[in-house]
Amino acid sequence: MLRPHSAADGALVRVRLPGGRISPAALQELAELAGENALELTSRGNVQLRGVVDLDAARERLMATGLLPSDSHERVRNIVASPLSSDVRDTAARLDEALQARPELAELPGRFLFALDDGTGDVAALAADAEIRDGVVHLDGHPTDLPATAPHLLDAAQAFLDVRADEWRIRDLPDGARRIARALGGRVTGPRDVPEPPNPPPVGWFDQADGTVVLGAGVPLGRLDPRTAQFVAAVDHPITITPWRTLYLHGLDEGAAETVVRVLAPRGLIFDANSPLLRVSACVGDHGCARAQGDALAHAAELAGTIGDDERVHVVACARGCGAPSGEHRRVVVRDGADD
Ligand code: SF4
Repeated sequence: MLRPHSAADGALVRVRLPGGRISPAALQELAELAGENALELTSRGNVQLRGVVDLDAARERLMATGLLPSDSHERVRNIVASPLSSDVRDTAARLDEALQARPELAELPGRFLFALDDGTGDVAALAADAEIRDGVVHLDGHPTDLPATAPHLLDAAQAFLDVRADEWRIRDLPDGARRIARALGGRVTGPRDVPEPPNPPPVGWFDQADGTVVLGAGVPLGRLDPRTAQFVAAVDHPITITPWRTLYLHGLDEGAAETVVRVLAPRGLIFDANSPLLRVSACVGDHGCARAQGDALAHAAELAGTIGDDERVHVVACARGCGAPSGEHRRVVVRDGADD
Protein backbone atom coordinates (compact mmCIF):
# COMPACT_ATOMS: atom_id res chain seq x y z
CA MET A 1 0.00 0.00 0.00
CA LEU A 2 2.89 2.36 0.75
CA ARG A 3 4.85 1.38 -2.38
CA PRO A 4 2.23 0.61 -5.02
CA HIS A 5 3.14 -1.32 -8.14
CA SER A 6 2.25 0.23 -11.47
CA ALA A 7 0.33 -2.45 -13.38
CA ALA A 8 -1.31 -2.34 -16.79
CA ASP A 9 -4.65 -1.54 -15.15
CA GLY A 10 -3.30 1.13 -12.79
CA ALA A 11 -1.93 1.13 -9.24
CA LEU A 12 -1.80 -2.30 -7.66
CA VAL A 13 -1.62 -2.31 -3.88
CA ARG A 14 -1.26 -5.12 -1.38
CA VAL A 15 -2.80 -4.89 2.06
CA ARG A 16 -1.12 -7.16 4.59
CA LEU A 17 -3.29 -9.07 7.03
CA PRO A 18 -1.06 -10.67 9.69
CA GLY A 19 -2.57 -14.03 10.58
CA GLY A 20 -5.20 -13.37 7.89
CA ARG A 21 -7.38 -11.44 10.31
CA ILE A 22 -9.64 -8.71 9.04
CA SER A 23 -12.55 -7.02 10.76
CA PRO A 24 -15.92 -6.71 9.03
CA ALA A 25 -15.50 -2.92 8.95
CA ALA A 26 -12.08 -3.21 7.30
CA LEU A 27 -13.39 -5.67 4.69
CA GLN A 28 -16.24 -3.29 3.94
CA GLU A 29 -13.69 -0.50 3.44
CA LEU A 30 -11.61 -2.65 1.06
CA ALA A 31 -14.74 -3.58 -0.89
CA GLU A 32 -15.63 0.09 -1.32
CA LEU A 33 -12.06 0.98 -2.35
CA ALA A 34 -12.04 -1.84 -4.91
CA GLY A 35 -14.84 -0.16 -6.88
CA GLU A 36 -15.80 -2.54 -9.68
CA ASN A 37 -12.59 -4.61 -9.39
CA ALA A 38 -12.27 -7.91 -7.60
CA LEU A 39 -10.36 -8.13 -4.34
CA GLU A 40 -7.52 -10.56 -5.02
CA LEU A 41 -6.60 -13.00 -2.26
CA THR A 42 -2.88 -13.84 -2.32
CA SER A 43 -0.93 -17.00 -1.57
CA ARG A 44 0.16 -15.47 1.76
CA GLY A 45 -3.36 -14.63 2.89
CA ASN A 46 -3.19 -10.94 1.99
CA VAL A 47 -5.49 -8.85 -0.22
CA GLN A 48 -4.59 -6.94 -3.38
CA LEU A 49 -6.56 -4.09 -4.90
CA ARG A 50 -6.12 -3.22 -8.57
CA GLY A 51 -6.62 0.05 -10.41
CA VAL A 52 -6.60 2.22 -7.29
CA VAL A 53 -7.08 5.79 -8.54
CA ASP A 54 -6.64 8.02 -5.49
CA LEU A 55 -3.82 6.44 -3.48
CA ASP A 56 -3.65 9.14 -0.82
CA ALA A 57 -7.34 8.84 -0.05
CA ALA A 58 -7.06 5.03 -0.02
CA ARG A 59 -4.17 5.17 2.46
CA GLU A 60 -6.08 7.48 4.77
CA ARG A 61 -9.14 5.26 4.73
CA LEU A 62 -7.06 2.14 5.44
CA MET A 63 -5.23 3.85 8.29
CA ALA A 64 -8.57 4.73 9.83
CA THR A 65 -9.51 1.03 9.82
CA GLY A 66 -6.23 -0.03 11.45
CA LEU A 67 -5.01 -1.86 8.34
CA LEU A 68 -1.87 0.31 8.03
CA PRO A 69 -0.51 0.59 11.56
CA SER A 70 3.14 1.19 10.65
CA ASP A 71 4.87 3.09 7.85
CA SER A 72 8.26 1.66 8.75
CA HIS A 73 7.28 -2.01 9.13
CA GLU A 74 4.48 -2.41 6.59
CA ARG A 75 6.63 -4.39 4.13
CA VAL A 76 7.79 -6.89 6.77
CA ARG A 77 4.47 -7.70 8.49
CA ASN A 78 4.41 -11.12 6.81
CA ILE A 79 2.74 -13.48 9.27
CA VAL A 80 0.60 -16.52 8.44
CA ALA A 81 -1.29 -18.50 11.07
CA SER A 82 -3.46 -21.62 11.17
CA PRO A 83 -6.92 -20.16 10.59
CA LEU A 84 -9.01 -22.53 12.70
CA SER A 85 -7.20 -22.03 16.00
CA SER A 86 -8.21 -18.89 17.92
CA ASP A 87 -5.12 -19.18 20.19
CA VAL A 88 -2.80 -19.10 17.21
CA ARG A 89 -4.69 -16.20 15.64
CA ASP A 90 -4.31 -14.23 18.88
CA THR A 91 -0.59 -15.01 18.96
CA ALA A 92 -0.32 -13.65 15.42
CA ALA A 93 -1.71 -10.32 16.57
CA ARG A 94 0.78 -10.17 19.45
CA LEU A 95 3.66 -11.15 17.16
CA ASP A 96 2.67 -8.38 14.75
CA GLU A 97 2.74 -5.79 17.55
CA ALA A 98 6.07 -7.06 18.87
CA LEU A 99 7.55 -7.00 15.34
CA GLN A 100 6.55 -3.37 14.90
CA ALA A 101 8.13 -2.55 18.28
CA ARG A 102 11.60 -3.58 17.06
CA PRO A 103 12.88 -0.78 14.78
CA GLU A 104 15.81 -2.80 13.41
CA LEU A 105 13.46 -5.48 12.01
CA ALA A 106 12.07 -2.95 9.54
CA GLU A 107 15.17 -3.90 7.50
CA LEU A 108 14.00 -7.48 6.94
CA PRO A 109 13.53 -8.44 3.29
CA GLY A 110 9.87 -8.27 2.28
CA ARG A 111 9.87 -12.00 1.53
CA PHE A 112 10.87 -13.10 5.03
CA LEU A 113 7.88 -15.03 6.40
CA PHE A 114 6.74 -15.85 9.94
CA ALA A 115 4.31 -18.72 10.56
CA LEU A 116 2.31 -19.94 13.53
CA ASP A 117 1.13 -23.50 13.00
CA ASP A 118 -1.40 -25.09 15.37
CA GLY A 119 -0.04 -28.61 14.83
CA THR A 120 -2.15 -29.38 11.77
CA GLY A 121 0.78 -28.58 9.46
CA ASP A 122 -1.39 -26.32 7.31
CA VAL A 123 0.68 -23.15 7.32
CA ALA A 124 3.86 -25.18 7.85
CA ALA A 125 3.44 -26.03 4.16
CA LEU A 126 4.43 -22.48 3.31
CA ALA A 127 8.01 -23.19 4.47
CA ALA A 128 8.25 -20.00 6.49
CA ASP A 129 11.61 -18.65 7.57
CA ALA A 130 10.75 -18.57 11.28
CA GLU A 131 7.85 -20.66 12.46
CA ILE A 132 6.29 -22.02 15.64
CA ARG A 133 5.20 -25.63 15.24
CA ASP A 134 4.93 -28.60 17.63
CA GLY A 135 6.16 -26.59 20.60
CA VAL A 136 9.46 -25.39 19.10
CA VAL A 137 10.79 -22.86 16.62
CA HIS A 138 11.36 -24.16 13.10
CA LEU A 139 13.81 -22.34 10.86
CA ASP A 140 13.19 -22.80 7.13
CA GLY A 141 11.32 -26.00 8.04
CA HIS A 142 14.10 -27.41 10.28
CA PRO A 143 13.02 -28.16 13.85
CA THR A 144 15.21 -26.64 16.57
CA ASP A 145 15.34 -26.81 20.35
CA LEU A 146 14.44 -23.11 20.66
CA PRO A 147 11.29 -22.49 22.72
CA ALA A 148 8.11 -21.65 20.82
CA THR A 149 7.70 -18.01 21.72
CA ALA A 150 7.17 -14.87 19.69
CA PRO A 151 10.39 -13.26 21.03
CA HIS A 152 12.38 -16.26 19.78
CA LEU A 153 10.87 -15.85 16.30
CA LEU A 154 11.87 -12.20 16.30
CA ASP A 155 15.35 -13.04 17.62
CA ALA A 156 15.71 -15.49 14.73
CA ALA A 157 14.77 -12.72 12.29
CA GLN A 158 17.37 -10.45 13.88
CA ALA A 159 20.02 -13.18 13.69
CA PHE A 160 19.20 -13.60 9.98
CA LEU A 161 19.64 -9.85 9.47
CA ASP A 162 22.98 -9.98 11.26
CA VAL A 163 24.47 -12.65 8.97
CA ARG A 164 22.79 -12.02 5.61
CA ALA A 165 24.49 -10.28 2.71
CA ASP A 166 21.82 -9.87 0.06
CA GLU A 167 19.83 -13.07 0.74
CA TRP A 168 16.05 -12.72 0.99
CA ARG A 169 15.22 -15.92 2.86
CA ILE A 170 16.94 -18.24 5.35
CA ARG A 171 16.90 -20.92 2.64
CA ASP A 172 19.14 -18.69 0.49
CA LEU A 173 21.79 -18.56 3.21
CA PRO A 174 24.36 -21.43 3.20
CA ASP A 175 23.59 -23.65 6.20
CA GLY A 176 21.19 -20.87 7.24
CA ALA A 177 18.96 -22.70 9.74
CA ARG A 178 21.94 -24.13 11.66
CA ARG A 179 23.79 -20.83 11.76
CA ILE A 180 20.80 -18.95 13.08
CA ALA A 181 19.93 -21.60 15.66
CA ARG A 182 23.53 -21.53 16.90
CA ALA A 183 23.53 -17.72 17.07
CA LEU A 184 20.57 -17.99 19.45
CA GLY A 185 22.22 -20.62 21.65
CA GLY A 186 20.23 -23.51 20.21
CA ARG A 187 20.60 -26.16 17.54
CA VAL A 188 18.76 -27.81 14.67
CA THR A 189 17.36 -31.12 15.86
CA GLY A 190 16.17 -32.76 12.66
CA PRO A 191 15.95 -32.63 8.86
CA ARG A 192 13.91 -30.07 6.97
CA ASP A 193 10.26 -31.04 7.23
CA VAL A 194 7.81 -29.13 5.06
CA PRO A 195 4.43 -30.87 4.64
CA GLU A 196 2.20 -30.62 1.60
CA PRO A 197 -0.55 -28.00 1.93
CA PRO A 198 -4.14 -29.16 2.45
CA ASN A 199 -5.59 -30.27 -0.88
CA PRO A 200 -8.33 -29.27 -1.28
CA PRO A 201 -8.24 -26.48 1.29
CA PRO A 202 -10.80 -27.09 4.04
CA VAL A 203 -14.14 -25.41 3.40
CA GLY A 204 -17.61 -25.92 4.80
CA TRP A 205 -18.92 -26.18 8.32
CA PHE A 206 -16.59 -26.58 11.35
CA ASP A 207 -18.21 -27.15 14.76
CA GLN A 208 -16.18 -25.57 17.55
CA ALA A 209 -15.77 -26.74 21.15
CA ASP A 210 -17.60 -23.65 22.42
CA GLY A 211 -20.72 -24.54 20.41
CA THR A 212 -20.14 -21.97 17.66
CA VAL A 213 -19.57 -22.70 14.00
CA VAL A 214 -16.75 -21.58 11.71
CA LEU A 215 -17.74 -21.43 8.05
CA GLY A 216 -14.99 -21.85 5.46
CA ALA A 217 -15.66 -20.60 1.92
CA GLY A 218 -13.56 -20.99 -1.20
CA VAL A 219 -13.15 -17.89 -3.36
CA PRO A 220 -13.06 -18.93 -7.03
CA LEU A 221 -9.64 -18.15 -8.52
CA GLY A 222 -8.96 -16.04 -5.43
CA ARG A 223 -11.05 -13.18 -6.81
CA LEU A 224 -13.63 -11.84 -4.40
CA ASP A 225 -16.30 -9.76 -6.05
CA PRO A 226 -16.62 -6.49 -4.05
CA ARG A 227 -20.38 -6.86 -3.67
CA THR A 228 -19.90 -10.36 -2.26
CA ALA A 229 -17.22 -8.97 0.07
CA GLN A 230 -19.80 -6.51 1.36
CA PHE A 231 -22.21 -9.38 2.06
CA VAL A 232 -19.43 -11.16 4.01
CA ALA A 233 -18.71 -7.97 5.99
CA ALA A 234 -22.42 -7.56 6.73
CA VAL A 235 -22.45 -10.89 8.60
CA ASP A 236 -20.51 -8.86 11.18
CA HIS A 237 -18.38 -11.66 12.61
CA PRO A 238 -14.57 -12.02 12.70
CA ILE A 239 -13.10 -12.97 9.32
CA THR A 240 -9.88 -14.74 8.35
CA ILE A 241 -8.37 -14.77 4.88
CA THR A 242 -6.22 -17.87 4.32
CA PRO A 243 -3.18 -18.56 2.10
CA TRP A 244 -5.38 -21.01 0.14
CA ARG A 245 -7.62 -18.28 -1.22
CA THR A 246 -10.43 -19.15 1.12
CA LEU A 247 -12.07 -17.12 3.87
CA TYR A 248 -13.44 -18.13 7.24
CA LEU A 249 -16.28 -16.59 9.23
CA HIS A 250 -15.88 -17.26 12.96
CA GLY A 251 -18.23 -17.42 15.92
CA LEU A 252 -21.51 -18.10 14.11
CA ASP A 253 -24.47 -19.89 15.63
CA GLU A 254 -26.06 -22.64 13.55
CA GLY A 255 -28.94 -20.52 12.31
CA ALA A 256 -26.65 -17.72 11.19
CA ALA A 257 -24.31 -20.22 9.50
CA GLU A 258 -27.21 -21.72 7.51
CA THR A 259 -28.31 -18.26 6.43
CA VAL A 260 -24.78 -17.32 5.38
CA VAL A 261 -24.51 -20.41 3.17
CA ARG A 262 -27.94 -19.71 1.62
CA VAL A 263 -26.89 -16.14 0.76
CA LEU A 264 -23.25 -16.59 -0.23
CA ALA A 265 -23.32 -19.90 -2.14
CA PRO A 266 -25.47 -18.41 -4.94
CA ARG A 267 -22.95 -15.55 -5.13
CA GLY A 268 -20.24 -18.07 -6.07
CA LEU A 269 -18.49 -18.77 -2.77
CA ILE A 270 -17.62 -22.46 -2.48
CA PHE A 271 -18.77 -24.47 0.54
CA ASP A 272 -18.45 -27.88 -1.14
CA ALA A 273 -15.03 -29.47 -0.48
CA ASN A 274 -15.40 -31.50 -3.70
CA SER A 275 -15.53 -28.47 -5.97
CA PRO A 276 -12.65 -28.64 -8.50
CA LEU A 277 -12.49 -24.84 -8.40
CA LEU A 278 -10.79 -25.20 -5.01
CA ARG A 279 -7.82 -26.80 -6.77
CA VAL A 280 -7.39 -24.24 -9.56
CA SER A 281 -5.65 -20.87 -9.30
CA ALA A 282 -4.47 -18.31 -11.83
CA CYS A 283 -2.54 -15.09 -12.24
CA VAL A 284 -4.44 -12.03 -13.43
CA GLY A 285 -3.16 -12.52 -17.00
CA ASP A 286 -4.37 -10.03 -19.60
CA HIS A 287 -6.93 -8.59 -17.21
CA GLY A 288 -4.24 -6.44 -15.60
CA CYS A 289 -0.70 -7.45 -16.50
CA ALA A 290 1.27 -5.94 -19.40
CA ARG A 291 3.42 -9.09 -19.75
CA ALA A 292 0.45 -11.38 -20.22
CA GLN A 293 0.22 -13.44 -23.36
CA GLY A 294 -3.29 -14.70 -22.77
CA ASP A 295 -6.36 -14.91 -20.56
CA ALA A 296 -5.22 -17.02 -17.61
CA LEU A 297 -8.44 -16.49 -15.66
CA ALA A 298 -10.73 -17.71 -18.44
CA HIS A 299 -8.47 -20.69 -19.12
CA ALA A 300 -8.39 -21.62 -15.43
CA ALA A 301 -12.18 -21.49 -15.19
CA GLU A 302 -12.40 -23.83 -18.20
CA LEU A 303 -9.77 -26.20 -16.80
CA ALA A 304 -11.69 -26.60 -13.55
CA GLY A 305 -14.18 -28.77 -15.41
CA THR A 306 -11.53 -31.22 -16.59
CA ILE A 307 -8.87 -31.67 -13.90
CA GLY A 308 -8.34 -34.93 -12.07
CA ASP A 309 -9.60 -35.63 -8.55
CA ASP A 310 -6.34 -34.91 -6.71
CA GLU A 311 -4.77 -32.55 -9.19
CA ARG A 312 -3.86 -28.94 -8.42
CA VAL A 313 -3.34 -26.55 -11.31
CA HIS A 314 -1.98 -23.03 -11.48
CA VAL A 315 -2.53 -21.13 -14.74
CA VAL A 316 -0.26 -18.24 -15.70
CA ALA A 317 0.01 -16.07 -18.80
CA CYS A 318 3.80 -15.95 -19.10
CA ALA A 319 6.82 -17.91 -17.90
CA ARG A 320 7.30 -15.71 -14.85
CA GLY A 321 4.69 -17.78 -13.03
CA CYS A 322 3.37 -15.33 -10.42
CA GLY A 323 1.16 -16.37 -7.52
CA ALA A 324 1.96 -20.09 -7.51
CA PRO A 325 0.45 -22.00 -4.59
CA SER A 326 2.73 -23.84 -2.18
CA GLY A 327 3.09 -27.58 -2.67
CA GLU A 328 2.81 -29.89 -5.66
CA HIS A 329 0.85 -28.51 -8.61
CA ARG A 330 0.80 -28.54 -12.39
CA ARG A 331 1.64 -25.23 -14.00
CA VAL A 332 -0.13 -24.28 -17.22
CA VAL A 333 1.21 -21.37 -19.28
CA VAL A 334 -1.39 -19.78 -21.58
CA ARG A 335 -0.19 -18.02 -24.71
CA ASP A 336 -2.87 -16.42 -26.88
CA GLY A 337 -5.29 -19.23 -26.34
CA ALA A 338 -2.74 -22.05 -26.59
CA ASP A 339 -1.35 -23.62 -23.46
CA ASP A 340 1.65 -25.75 -22.50
S1 SF4 B 1 2.71 -14.73 -14.55
FE1 SF4 B 1 3.22 -13.26 -16.17
S2 SF4 B 1 1.22 -12.64 -16.99
FE2 SF4 B 1 0.84 -13.57 -14.98
S3 SF4 B 1 0.84 -11.83 -13.56
FE3 SF4 B 1 2.92 -12.70 -13.58
S4 SF4 B 1 4.03 -11.46 -15.08
FE4 SF4 B 1 1.83 -11.13 -15.45
